This record gives sequence, C-alpha cells and structure tokens, in this order.
Amino acid sequence: MLIPVAVARWASLLAVLAAPLPALAADAAISPAWFKAATASTPLCAGNGRRVHIGFERAAAAACSIDADGHVHVTIAPENKPINPSPWYGLVVASDAPAPTIVTLHYGDSRHRYAPWTAEPGAPAHRLDQQAVTIAADQHSATMCLPTARTRLLIAQPPERSDDVLARFEAKVQAGQLIRADAGHSVARRPLAVYHHRPAEPRGTIVIITRQHPPETTGPQAFARFTDVLLGTSRAARAFRRRHALMIVPLANPDGFVMGHWRHNLGGVDLNRDWGPFTQPETRALGAAITAEAARGPILAVIDFHSTFRDVVYAPPQPNEPDLGEAMLAAITRDLAGADIRIDRAHNPGNGVLKSWARDQFGVGALTWEVGDDSPPARTNRLATAAATALMAAAARQ
Ligand SMILES: [Zn+2]
Repeated sequence: MLIPVAVARWASLLAVLAAPLPALAADAAISPAWFKAATASTPLCAGNGRRVHIGFERAAAAACSIDADGHVHVTIAPENKPINPSPWYGLVVASDAPAPTIVTLHYGDSRHRYAPWTAEPGAPAHRLDQQAVTIAADQHSATMCLPTARTRLLIAQPPERSDDVLARFEAKVQAGQLIRADAGHSVARRPLAVYHHRPAEPRGTIVIITRQHPPETTGPQAFARFTDVLLGTSRAARAFRRRHALMIVPLANPDGFVMGHWRHNLGGVDLNRDWGPFTQPETRALGAAITAEAARGPILAVIDFHSTFRDVVYAPPQPNEPDLGEAMLAAITRDLAGADIRIDRAHNPGNGVLKSWARDQFGVGALTWEVGDDSPPARTNRLATAAATALMAAAARQ
C-alpha cells in the first residue's frame, strides 16, 4: 500500500543505494571515502556555496532550499501517514563558504525528537553542541549552526549502517559460534538475517529481536549488550548455552532502517502491529521462522527491544511459571530501586504487537523493553547486563 509520492521519492534514493558505501560504524571515524561517496550524487538543493546530499544509507526523505544568505531549510517528511512522530533526519551538508552554515529542519505537524549528531570526514560522530541547536517554541522546527567545514554529516542518531548492525553476529558465524539462517526477505528483497545458537539437546529457545522501528537506537544498544552477555565467555554464559538455543534477529525492518524511515516498513506498515494480520513479508517470514523454531522445541521467552521517550518495560502477566521474563524484570527492578522505570502489565491480545502474539501463540513470557531516547548508555548497559545475567541464572534453576 505504498503511495505513489513515496515511490517517486524513493526511486532516486534506491538508485543511489545500489552503489555500496564504505562502512560507517557508530563509534569509529567516518572515512573521507564515505563522505566522497555520499556527496557524489546530485544535491537535493544547492546555493550560496552550500549543497545538501541524501545519497547514503539512512538518509532522510527531505526537500530543501537555500536562502540568499546561505541559510539551509530542510523539510523532513515521513514515509507515509498517519505515523508515530519520530522525525528522522540524515543529510550531508557540503559547503565552500567561509562562514558557518545555519540549517533549519522543518518537521511539519511533528515535533523535534532527536538531538542532532554530526561528523566530519576522518573523525568519529558526536552530538552537536547543545548551544548550537535552537528548538522552536512549538517544536515543529529546529535550527542548528554548523561550524565551518567542507562537508559535514547531520543525523538524528549515531550513524550506523546495516552492515555494522550485523557485523558483531557475522563475526560469531565466522568463528563457528552462531549459524545464520535468514528467515526470508523484506519488501525490497533485503535478507531478514536470523542468527541461531543450537546446542545438541536444548531445553528450548529464547528469541531476541530488535529494530522493527528504524530510528530506535537506545533499544538496539540494550539488545547488543544483552546478546553480548548471553554469547560471552563467562562460566554462566557457557553453561547457559549448553542447554538453551538462541534465535537472534538484529534487524527486523531492514528496508525502513536503510531508507531512513520514521516507523514503517517499505509497505507503509508498522511491523509491530502486524503480528497476527501478517500482511507484510517481514512479519510473515519472521513469524514463520519463530513458529518453525517452536516445532523444534519450546519457545521459553521472547524479548523485543525498542526505544521511546522513557524507560518502560511492557510485560503482560506471564502465562506460565517459573518464567524467565519475570526473573529479568525482577533483576531490572532491583537494579533500578527507586529509579525511573515503568513496568506496564497490560495485556492487549490481538493488537498485532509481537509480544502479544508470541504470548498467545506459544504461551510464553514475552516482553517489549523500551529504552528512553536519552537514557545514559552506561545505565542501559548496566540494566541489559543485569537482565541477561538474571535470565541465565533463572534458566539454570529450571
Ligand atoms: Zn519501537
């Protein structure tokens, strides 16, 4: 149900994306070669010594204009509507002007959500100095002052490419620790990578998934730490893996991720409302893969990592006891005694959310773990470590 305007908008971007770009890891320096490739495309707009480019993975759908004084105006548009307001932006501003560049992002009906990140060629990305960002009183636009530089990436979250997202798991496939068995393909035929750990005689499988929603970054950070602990070399992790299979899905919505979507897949659907209707190839394929896993042995828990405005765990009453999800919740709550986290026990069957579908389909503890957009990374890592450690301890008791 892709609307024609969206098709036209993305056609040019898809053509650009056919050419591979160099890797772009979140904390590594972004190479001059990456910038060269990103700015090789026809600019989205140009004038007064400035050019705006969106020829790279995770660039935003946008329109732009440049005033006579060099002020850049970019209108950020969602992939379709209605949509959750998560205005994603990703652009490269190139400048030959000797002065700083003023950029205003216009969000239409939506409000500013993500504090901008920036990077120059050969340097790692970092948050743009807060002093350089002015958010309009109505929050429908944000204006930022970019220091003088020939080219500069401006992006809503720390830059990461799809290859970077999969790299940590690909390394474990190379090392023989994981097996990759893709569930199928996205709308645009990108592979839906699934990584399995399969011991000889598992008690059952824990399913861990993230990035149904493209801009979310802090949830995937928790996912990365959580899976690192389970796949680690500690005695507890090795004992856990002798008796438990793992099914890991790092990039559930590859098209949306690559194309800088706010929320949906390329079919214009929120995938985390499609578990049950299964109208999209991503949910159909991943649902079938989880069902096939359940035919090999019981699904013991399903954990789906997301991001929102604050830390909240959606954990409906668990159908069976003892439950691994409950052990994790207890660990998180204990670790955060007195801290700001919400546990939401509501169960809404039939709403198309993965955790609801999994709970009702397999009778297992299933939860959605949302990490706040601005939650400190150290806290997120600590909680993810505590949760994974509790999961392994609870599994050992069963
Ligand atoms: Zn989400």
